Order: sequence, then structure tokens, then C-alpha cells
Amino acid sequence: MSSTNPEEFKRFHFRLIRGAPNGYIPFYFPLEVQGKDPREGISWKNNRKTFREAYYLMSQGFNIGIAATSKDPLVIVDIDDLSQVPEIKPTLQTTSRKRIGLHNYFFSFDGTAKKNIAAKDAGEVRANWQYVVAPGSFVPCSPEEIDRIPEHERVNAGRYTLNNELPVSEIAFEELPDVYKARYTEIIHDEVEAVTKRIERKFTGRQLNGIHKSALWDLDITDVSGVSDTQGRRVPMPPEIHGSESGHNCSVSKGLLHCWRHNTYHNSFSYLAMLAGVMSCERAGRPHGGHYFGADPQDGETVFKVWEYAKNQRLISQDDPIPQRALTYYAISKGICKKENLVNDGRLPPIIYQIALLVAKQEGLNFGRK
Ligand SMILES: [Zn+2]
Repeated sequence: MSSTNPEEFKRFHFRLIRGAPNGYIPFYFPLEVQGKDPREGISWKNNRKTFREAYYLMSQGFNIGIAATSKDPLVIVDIDDLSQVPEIKPTLQTTSRKRIGLHNYFFSFDGTAKKNIAAKDAGEVRANWQYVVAPGSFVPCSPEEIDRIPEHERVNAGRYTLNNELPVSEIAFEELPDVYKARYTEIIHDEVEAVTKRIERKFTGRQLNGIHKSALWDLDITDVSGVSDTQGRRVPMPPEIHGSESGHNCSVSKGLLHCWRHNTYHNSFSYLAMLAGVMSCERAGRPHGGHYFGADPQDGETVFKVWEYAKNQRLISQDDPIPQRALTYYAISKGICKKENLVNDGRLPPIIYQIALLVAKQEGLNFGRK
């Protein structure tokens, strides 16, 4: 029997959103029953639930995770060892299952505290695509763990509960407890050193050509659509693209998928551009008799979105190297580089390249390059 407490989760939710900035919606997702791991079979980043859905799942015994993402202002300061974190700015706080750790919820409006910092056994700052277990969840404790819980707290062993009724406070980097700030300084120091070494290596010319080829370019139309060569027959268009009143508006031959409603051809790239929501069928494809696909593999923004989609859907591996054009687009969109500073064939200068990878890492993105 699990012992989740959806009412505790509800109290937490309403305290969290009371006074939250406009547009903030907590990122909830289901965890295993009596566990801390996301439910199997789907990446948690693609398994977001509304509060109502999460509340229902918890009433069915599932634990719920709450994530701070790169798209919201949430910062969760996780304290594992109180002796190393004697003080923290008062804010909405919850206690975790061993009744020793504390989760402190903050909003970062200036962005300075929006950093993932793992401060060894003191705890963590979780700000970009990291999560904690939400109150109301339950993970049983072992007898040894129960022994370490203060006696008056043992009735709550295994439970994640609210610890106070405070609203969520704002936090800036400078206000974080010292142990996290010190650790962050170390992290940056190590990163800069690593970057310097990598740049030195690069200038000695040891980087092999083609080492960063994304598997995106190896996908074929059957990999992405699930439709094999239809041997001259017509079949319904896969419903994720669009409907088929006739039931035979699609065929696959010679590695291309034909849409007979819009009279277009698709290759794997234009097909993914449709799935990723970048373009519709009539715009993404190549018109029958035409010469060009609307979904342009030379366009950095399109490549970025298609590559990101393919990764999220696990069509390519999590450490797949981002295509060069997509990386250039990312660097420009983040203001790291200007178009006029690009070097041969639209590439980033070496130092900018390393900075772009660092920024991505800070955002919790894996660009699969070094
Ligand atoms: Zn179509």
C-alpha cells in the first residue's frame, strides 16, 4: 500500500502559486509508486502534467515530481546537511522523507540564482531541468533510516510534507547560502580551465574532421514516419501529420513520402519539420514538379528545432552532436555571437563556440560536443 497524501500536495500547490509571477505554471510529472524515479517508458521532460492530472495520479498512489526548468523562474534549494547550511532566506519550505532534508522554493526574477549547483553533501541548487519529489509523495524508509529520524518525527517517516506556510520568496545569487556560492565559484573555475585546455588542443589541430556528425542526417523516411515503401499502393497519411478522408492520400517510394492531398514530397527532414510543428505539410514538402523542399536543412533555426525534436523523441541519442548550423543559430539567438562575427561557412569562432556550449550546459541542454 502506498501512503500518498493528495491533500498535502494540493496545499503545497496553492501556496506555491500564490504570489507567483504571472504565467508561472509548476512543472509536475509522475514518479514511480513509492519511488523517486520518473515513471518508466517516457522521458519526464515530455510527461508534464497539469495540477489536476498530478493530483489525480497522486490519489492513485503515484508520487509526483516538481521540476525547475529553463523556461520558468523556479529555484529549489535542497539542503541535505543543515550543519553546512545554518541559514537560509525564509520561504516556502518542505521536508523530505528522511525528515532531515529541506526543500526551499524560490523565484529568481533577475536570473542570477537560476543555476544548477551540486554542493557535494551539503545539498543542491536545482534550477534548470532538475527536480525534487513534491509534498504528498511517499517513499518508505528502511529500518536504519527510521533509526536516524528524531523520535517525535518518526510518524512521518517516508513522507514529503510542508514545513511552513510562508509564501515563495524571491532570491538572487548573492542571497544563496555561502556553501552553494563557494561551490559555484569552483565550478566556474574548473569549467574555464577545461575550456582553455580544449581551445589549446583545437589549435594544435588534433580535432578530427567529421567527428561531430549528427545522426539526424542518417534517419530515413521510414524511421521518422513508420511507413515503409508502399509498393505502389496508397495508404492513409499518418494522423500526426493530417487527416485522410479518402484513406489513400499517402504513399512511400524511393525514400520519399508523397502527400496526394497537398501534392508534395517529403524527405525525413521535412517530415520531422512537420512533426516538430515548424511547418505544415504544404509548406514543408517539395511540390510535385518543384525543385526545393520548404523545410530547408541550410536554415539554422529549422535544423535546431528538428534536431531538438528528434532528440526529445529519442529518434537520435541524447548525446548526439548538434549540427553546426543549429549551434550557430543557438549562439546568435542567445546573443553570444553576431552574424558578422561568423567565420568560414557560417561557423562560430573557436572561443564563441566554447562559450555557446557552456551556456547550453548551464541551461541543462546536451549539445553532444566538446
Ligand atoms: Zn499533405
